[in-house]
Amino acid sequence: MRSREVHLIERPQGLPVPQQFRIVEAAVPEPADGQLLVQNIYMSVDPAMRPRLAGATTLNEAMMGGAIGRVLKSRNPAFNVGDHVESMNGFREYFVSDGKGLSKLDADGMPLVAYMSVLGLTGLTAYGGLLIIGALKDGENVFVSAAAGAVGSVAAQIAKIKGCYVIGSAGSDEKCRWLKDELGLDVAINYKKGELRTSLKAAAPKGIDVYFENVGGEHLNAALPRMNALGRIAVCGMISAYNNFGAVSEPVTTLSNMIYNRITMRGFVFYEFESKRAQFLKDMKCWIKDGRLKYRTTIQEGIDAAPSALIGLFTGANTGKMVVQLAND
Ligand code: NAP
Repeated sequence: MRSREVHLIERPQGLPVPQQFRIVEAAVPEPADGQLLVQNIYMSVDPAMRPRLAGATTLNEAMMGGAIGRVLKSRNPAFNVGDHVESMNGFREYFVSDGKGLSKLDADGMPLVAYMSVLGLTGLTAYGGLLIIGALKDGENVFVSAAAGAVGSVAAQIAKIKGCYVIGSAGSDEKCRWLKDELGLDVAINYKKGELRTSLKAAAPKGIDVYFENVGGEHLNAALPRMNALGRIAVCGMISAYNNFGAVSEPVTTLSNMIYNRITMRGFVFYEFESKRAQFLKDMKCWIKDGRLKYRTTIQEGIDAAPSALIGLFTGANTGKMVVQLAND
């Protein structure tokens, strides 16, 4: 059996280009005793992969990334043929594993692809970042950057469910329409039009209590002077920095606003919220079934599309979660 996989062949400087990746065909061995063969169905495409291209990703080897697959053959008693499994063995079509690092996924009647976004790591990041790190209280004033993206669109909707006044920023009028007309945000700012600081000031007449930070740079500069006393900035990501060498962020010149307004700024990583996963899944499934939480997936077809899908995160090619589909689910 042969599997195609994505290799990085040259480290990018600035925005990656497709020529820095290669699709390589490799032989897949028969699973030995204790092993299983998995066919990947969905691969997650994540902004955090970009900083890793600068060093952590090994050249000329299959890249790593989140994936959901189906067990095709099993000689491991913990897995049966047909089981769905989550792994970090994405960016390839098939793989053989001894089962370490794999977890079984029971989709529980929900679409499998939802576990790539709202019901998976993306959703948990938004849920924990907003409710635990942001310590959101009902009815507060919230700003979410990259609000039409995977994490941002979930964070913004949870804030609406909690009765908050929610401002989102995104990079196109079409995305802003989606945020306002379908997701029910109070204001959506196209940050590529006009000056963000001016737009945000107008959009936030009562200031901002919680800023869910996905972008950094000018977004953080614009948000800091608008923060209310005891406001919280939950730093989820700073995508505007990821194409810079060493992920160096753009200069932030408004930090002194933290002092008199006693603002807390706290970075976090999704794994901090693992203990909340059961409650998260319960809440999210309920909100999705009630139609209070919607999600979109930007699906690219086939392994050849993986490099451009990754690059597309930095040009705003996705609405909701960027996913590559490799097989029928
Ligand atoms: P995403 O928001 O679905 O996709 C990235 C989006 O960012 C793009 O669609 C684009 O939308 C926007 N963007 C790209 N470059 C930008 C720039 N220079 N300035 C402003 N906006 C830009 O990706 P995601 O997976 O949901 O991740 C969102 C953020 O969360 C990222 O910073 C990521 O690193 C972070 N994250 C953190 C954790 C954690 O555990 N801390 C986990 C997952 C993700 P526009 O059209 O709006 O520009």
